[in-house]
Amino acid sequence: MEDVPRRWNLFKMKALVSKFIKVRCSKCKNEQVIFGNSSNIVYCLVCSKEVAYPTGGKSRISARVLEVLE
Ligand SMILES: [Zn+2]
Repeated sequence: MEDVPRRWNLFKMKALVSKFIKVRCSKCKNEQVIFGNSSNIVYCLVCSKEVAYPTGGKSRISARVLEVLE
């Protein structure tokens, strides 16, 4: 059911260098746009689950990346 394949990795890589990415919370499915290079942990606005972690200036995305906004 989860189409996590290559597309996911591509988005993930792009997300690390782009400014804004749209993610979907893996818990509540809320969609929100976050800053790709955030230095803070980004939480879901609805359920407060972490959706991105800062890792050396770039964010590691823990939610589903839907779109990269360049
Ligand atoms: Zn959520």
